[in-house]
Amino acid sequence: MVIVEILQIGVIIMAKKQNIFTLIPKVDELLKVEKIEMLLEKVPRITVVESVRENIEYIRKKIIKLNEDEVEAFKIDEEELIENIIQKVTLKNKMNLRKVINATGVVLHTNLGRALLSDTIKEEIWNVASSYSTLEFDIDSGKRGSRYAHVEEIITKLTGAEAAMVVNNNAAAVLLVLDTLAKNKEVIVSRGQLVEIGGAFRVPDVMQQSGAKLVEVGTTNKTHFSDYENAISEETAVLLKVHTSNYRILGFTEEVSLKDLINLGKKSNIPVIEDIGSGTFIDFSKYGLYKEPTVQESVLAGADIVTFSGDKLLGGPQAGVIVGKEKYIKEMKKNPYTRAFRVDKLTLAALEATLRLYLNEEEEVIHQIPTLRMLTISLDEIKEKADTLYEMLKNNVKNCTIEKIEGVSQVGGGSMPLEEMPTVLIRIKPENISVNKFEALLRTYETPIITRISEDQVVIDVRTLKLDEFDIIVNGLCHILMR
Ligand SMILES: *Cc1c(COP(=O)(O)O)cnc(C)c1O
Repeated sequence: MVIVEILQIGVIIMAKKQNIFTLIPKVDELLKVEKIEMLLEKVPRITVVESVRENIEYIRKKIIKLNEDEVEAFKIDEEELIENIIQKVTLKNKMNLRKVINATGVVLHTNLGRALLSDTIKEEIWNVASSYSTLEFDIDSGKRGSRYAHVEEIITKLTGAEAAMVVNNNAAAVLLVLDTLAKNKEVIVSRGQLVEIGGAFRVPDVMQQSGAKLVEVGTTNKTHFSDYENAISEETAVLLKVHTSNYRILGFTEEVSLKDLINLGKKSNIPVIEDIGSGTFIDFSKYGLYKEPTVQESVLAGADIVTFSGDKLLGGPQAGVIVGKEKYIKEMKKNPYTRAFRVDKLTLAALEATLRLYLNEEEEVIHQIPTLRMLTISLDEIKEKADTLYEMLKNNVKNCTIEKIEGVSQVGGGSMPLEEMPTVLIRIKPENISVNKFEALLRTYETPIITRISEDQVVIDVRTLKLDEFDIIVNGLCHILMR
């Protein structure tokens, strides 16, 4: 008897649910709703149909889970359904790779794309991208040209090196150099310089990949000239110096200078290679920052080969630049890895245009290249920026407390790890939602706003913000905190 009753109730609920299912609008009907039809003019049909289907499926699943009481009360809110579809379409129609606002103050944020290209070189990049170009064509002779020729001249001019070439990134550059010069031979490197860079670039692994045999000398904190001297053998192909760009060994330490290593190399007829990581042409100590080795200094000191990144302190696109003695660069150009690591025309256009900016007076260069501008901006200017944003937020955003405090920003990108640049931070504490939720809503906002949390508040560092992003931030905060 009881079982029969339960079964009967089950049948009734099922019948009611069937009824509700028939109330769900059909895909075709929804596509004819004016608001959705309008979307079809701007968005691919497949995106709209997919969004409609997913929303219908969501409602079906919700109905299946209803119990008896809920079935009675259930209604389909068509307005809401349409809004949800529009929201989904908007979301799907966005590029996955897209702009975010970096409010972390970390200038070379590797996860957020490292260096920003200069506004002044847009046209140069787009011209090459959207037209046929001289990529591998020599205009004068009408014959095949080299894609490396476009930047070689300017790199040698800026660095004083005999020759130069460019590959995909600095990791590829180091691999190519070692494969060309030290395959099946020995490379001597200090134990204090066996660097790991974020994203699995480890000097010992790169060595292994290149077929070079790593000969470690010295200890973690101290490597002497004699350590190198004693390690040299018939099998030694290269003396390698790696700039410990993302860490410092402090205290009781000793490192052999590039100059001494070069002298030893000359005496023993072994090339000296330096991986300086963040290649910079600018002496940052002039701006009160840590003195990173400049490319020119290494070339002038007589390094046979110097490698560096294009998108760290140089402020250009992702690339690995190799400069040095022509006889070695020539060999590298013939290495099959060069083809595998070759840079694309967009990179070359961006790199050449960025490098050309360096022909200007330093004051101008620093102004034109965003990475340099953000690193060297004065505290007064930062204060001004912070005041502007602070006032805008104070006047427009409710449901939170906003304050301005002094703080520090970091260089990032494995450059100048100990450098703490004084900055002004804006701290925001939401009143009606948790700080974690607030951070997540900012991060998933239309234009994602990437912040950090400190002492239970969301922190915005104005150093890495562009002025035209202030409005977006204010609107975003209003939108998120008004609800
Ligand atoms: C960053 C860095 C690399 C890797 O450069 P990518 O351009 O990111 O490939 C290699 N060596 C050093 C010393 C670095 O600082």
